[in-house]
Amino acid sequence: MRAKKLFTILVASTILGCTTMPVKPQKPIEEIVAGPSIKPSEDLGLVYKISQGEGIKQLSYLAMNNKLEDIWYYIPETNEWLDYGNKVSKNGCNPEPNVLLTLRPNIKEVSSYHIHPACNLSMGGFYKDEFKHFPGALPPSKEDLTYLLEERAELKRSGVNLKEVVVVDLGGYWVVNFETICKETVKKMQYYEMLVDKHTSSYYSLYKYNKNDSKKLETFRKDLIKDFEMKAAELGMDMKYHFLE
Ligand SMILES: [Zn+2]
Repeated sequence: MRAKKLFTILVASTILGCTTMPVKPQKPIEEIVAGPSIKPSEDLGLVYKISQGEGIKQLSYLAMNNKLEDIWYYIPETNEWLDYGNKVSKNGCNPEPNVLLTLRPNIKEVSSYHIHPACNLSMGGFYKDEFKHFPGALPPSKEDLTYLLEERAELKRSGVNLKEVVVVDLGGYWVVNFETICKETVKKMQYYEMLVDKHTSSYYSLYKYNKNDSKKLETFRKDLIKDFEMKAAELGMDMKYHFLE
């Protein structure tokens, strides 16, 4: 129970935990970087010219190996990744969606990506090489979704559609279809939070009691993910987990 409690606090403080109201960047920095190089960075407004698939792979690598938090927009129209997290730290960052409106004023649609690093699982007392057994264990938190819904409304006023919210972990990524979320869904957010807690605890138990049976782990993990997707759908959230190859 203790681990679960600590875990909840950790997830809540992940990436969006120390959010403040977005401020208009004074001097946005823009730099085109080629190749596999996405990393959490102090440079708000950094642009990466890589495909969506490549970007996801790199974020998954970061989720395994990096403790710093950051947040990015993927812009399908230009095939670019834009860093919009300011004050990057271990505990979170300040998302500043205005950087998009300044640097890419004519964009009509984006998706928001952030990582849930393996270090958030370390409260379970596992070793680093055991983290690979936990893909899908850290869905978007209630705080993530609540903040991003505000961000969606803010972007909408500027004519930008926040289509999807994606949380990448060490073996795949959760995609939330934001176009389907309405006021009724928001009212159910407290049930969603319980769902996330239960889901993550189930992963801990599953691993603890079946660590020597990789086949069983894989099957049960898929069942847990399916079950989570189904229960989230009942709350009005269209959410799917995708395993990376
Ligand atoms: Zn998060």
